[in-house]
This record gives sequence, C-alpha cells and structure tokens, in this order.
Amino acid sequence: MEKLGIGIDFGGTKILGVLTNENGKVLKSIKEETGNTNEGERIISTIVAIIQKLKEGFKVKSVGIGCAGFIDYINGVVHESPNIKFLKNFPLGKTIYEKVKIPVFVDNDVKAGCVAEMYLGNGKNTKNFVYITLGTGIGGCIVHDGKIVRGANNMAGEVGHITIDEFGPLCGCGKRGCVEALASGLFIKNYFIHGVKRGIETSVVEEIEDIDKIDVSLIAKHAKKGDLLSLKVLRTSAKNIGLMLSIIINILNPEKIIIGGGLLNAIDVVFEDLIESAKINSLKIPFESVKIEKSSMGENGVAVGASIMGILRL
Ligand SMILES: [Zn+2]
Repeated sequence: MEKLGIGIDFGGTKILGVLTNENGKVLKSIKEETGNTNEGERIISTIVAIIQKLKEGFKVKSVGIGCAGFIDYINGVVHESPNIKFLKNFPLGKTIYEKVKIPVFVDNDVKAGCVAEMYLGNGKNTKNFVYITLGTGIGGCIVHDGKIVRGANNMAGEVGHITIDEFGPLCGCGKRGCVEALASGLFIKNYFIHGVKRGIETSVVEEIEDIDKIDVSLIAKHAKKGDLLSLKVLRTSAKNIGLMLSIIINILNPEKIIIGGGLLNAIDVVFEDLIESAKINSLKIPFESVKIEKSSMGENGVAVGASIMGILRL
C-alpha cells in the first residue's frame, strides 16, 4: 500500500502543510498565516488543525515539520528559532504528537528543502551537492555520498554565517560581517534604504512613498530596467554570495550547487555577477567541475521535503 505522510513548512510568516506519498507527490495542501509568533498555543492549534484537515479520509504514517533554527532532530526539540519567538527549547515534536497521535519528526527547514532537492529536484542522481537558500537569511545543507551531513549539532552547512568581513555589519547570529549580513534580503533592503537616504537617485521612489517599506522584488524590477542604485545593491549581494560559493567549492569540491529560496528571482537579475565572483575566488579545477543551478522546487519544497523525511525517517 502507498505510504502517505504530511509535511509542514513552519515559518515566521506562513505555515504550509501538504499531504504527499513517499515519492513526494502532493495530494492536498493548506496554507495559513503564522501571525504573532509569541502566541505559541494558537500557532500549535493552527498546525494541529492543518494536520487534521490534511489527514481526513487518508491513513497517514508520519508528520514531518521543517522549521527555521537550531533543532535537535533526534528528540524533536527546537532550541531556538530566530523568527518564531515562542520556540525556545520547545518540544515541538512531542507537543504535536500528543494532539494528533501520528509520529512527528522535526528538522531544520533548509535540510527539509534539501531532501526535496535530493528526491525530486536538481539533486536527484547527484551524490555530492550543496543546497543554498537565499531569503531573509541565508542557509545551506551539504549532501555527501548521498547523505545529509549533520555535524555534531545538526548545524553543518550554516554557510550564511561564514565571516567575510570581520568589521562588517552586525548579523542576526550576533557576529559581524557574516555573508548573511552582507547579502541576504534584509541586507539588500537596508543597503538600498541607506543609499536613498544619502540622496542617491533611483527610479524606485516613483513607485513607493515610504522607502522603509521597500521590498526586494521592487528593487529587482528596477534593476532589470537599468536603475543604477538597484543594480549596485543587487550586484553587491551577488558578489558576496559568489564569495561564499567559492569557499564552499574550495572546501567540498561538490558536483553541484543548487540555489533556491525567496530571493532567487531577485538575484537572477544579477546571476552572472554571482557566477563571476564564485569563479574569481575559487580554485580553477573545482570551479570548472561544479554545476551551479537554480532550484526548480518552488514554494512547496520545504513542506514536501519534510513529508518525505518523515515517511523515510531520514
Ligand atoms: Zn551570522
């Protein structure tokens, strides 16, 4: 009989649930807003309601949850999640299990997204690759010999926190000058706003009144039309991401690097700059053998990967 599982992408702005088979085929999906991330009880009830609705009429084997942050995946405990405030040493797996009575697996969202790449995306049939997500933050997951590298604390692959400028801006992790602080969606917005406030001309101001509410897609739209400030900001981000890739390439000599995440569409505008920066900073032979590709998984990736993780107990 076909094995079915539920996967949840639990993020700071949305909770996306899917019902899939073991091959990751989506049979049903539900999306809800996360809302105020201090309201733990309400959010847990939302997740439980999503699971109940998804399992109606089906025999479900497992629930997999992909959640941002530092996660003890063996015990299903979230030690800390930067965007979901109530999750502090929180036994997420046990809490959900007690309400739904289906085995629950909790893991880092980037690792769940990486599983989707391994089974369904561009990582299929690739034994050594690195999956990178570009968004508000920057995450990574290493696959070596067909297995996810977890390290001592399930934190292997945190490439967004490689320091590239020790005197650089403060990062969400508390350090200075991490790639994330110099390339993420948050960096792009802040660097752009800084430029506007210094009086640099940009066509973006014709389209938005309150510059503090700018989003990256608007910057990307104007970069495409040749707006110099928009291009400068995106190129700086691309250059720093490329630098991060060169470090990955030199250390791991991967067959592939797959890039996904909400920022991908914006970075796509300056993708050549990213590749150029990776090339300049890498050793020649590993750079020539690595394929740098864009993820094809789309919005469902983390939820689908979480579901596969739960079914296969990865
Ligand atoms: Zn950092």
